[in-house]
Amino acid sequence: MSKKLEGKSALVTGGSRGIGAAIAKRLASDGAHVAITYSKGADAAASVVDDIKRAGGKAIAIQADAADSDAVKAAVEKTVSVFGRLDVLVNNAGTAFPKSFEESTLAEMNRVIDINIRGVLVATQAALKHMKRGGRIIMIGSAVGERVAAPGLVPYAATKGAVKMFSQALAREIGSRGITVNNVQPGPIDTELNPAAGDWAVPQKAATALDRYGHVDEIAAMVAFVAGPDSSYVTGANLTVDGGMNA
Ligand code: NDP
Repeated sequence: MSKKLEGKSALVTGGSRGIGAAIAKRLASDGAHVAITYSKGADAAASVVDDIKRAGGKAIAIQADAADSDAVKAAVEKTVSVFGRLDVLVNNAGTAFPKSFEESTLAEMNRVIDINIRGVLVATQAALKHMKRGGRIIMIGSAVGERVAAPGLVPYAATKGAVKMFSQALAREIGSRGITVNNVQPGPIDTELNPAAGDWAVPQKAATALDRYGHVDEIAAMVAFVAGPDSSYVTGANLTVDGGMNA
């Protein structure tokens, strides 16, 4: 039986660990050739590529800080030059500096904006030059882009709200080209950015209906759906995968 993403090529930003690594492995197991970017974790990125290759897939890792527009554009071009096409872009790279808004520094706010919004705009613009009918642009927004259950994430929530409206607006603009744009909004997912152990996790876990943190594969499953052919009529959607946190 042929796989759902056989013959397709995907670029996952921030794919060396956490949610992005799970997405990269899942898209590869669905048959896509996968490029991942990372900023610092060369070894972690290489190990994701090795895992994919060991499982019979094709993958490359590209060092590209999401805050560096030229590097982001070069990552898109490299993906196309290696795999010959680009069908799926997953804008996953993101960061947060959890602390009170009034204590947030300008440098931290700039960094969150540069990675979480500007990097997404630049990667998407570069990818659209190569995408054909059937293309998929997928954002990893956040459940806090819609509702915020706890303090400490003010600039981050603002960027994820922006990502949400970016997806909706872009879906309108490029729908006639047969390219879909969707925003997957994770709730608390156990990663280095948001570990399930520790004080910070307690109110987040309690805010979910399922009373637990999510697993990275639970986000990858939704991304695989919107990347694949079964989601052909889904666009401009905010797909919340949050254990009921925003219910
Ligand atoms: P992690 O911090 O665990 O992983 C982040 C990944 O992105 C790493 O591969 C990292 O690589 C890469 N990355 C970080 N900064 C940059 C950068 N400047 N340029 C390129 N790559 C970068 O994060 P998560 O997996 O938890 O988060 C992934 C996405 O999911 C983010 O957009 C986040 O906002 C979103 N999200 C996460 C939630 C959670 O609870 N975990 C909840 C809601 C949304 P490197 O080590 O090389 O920097």
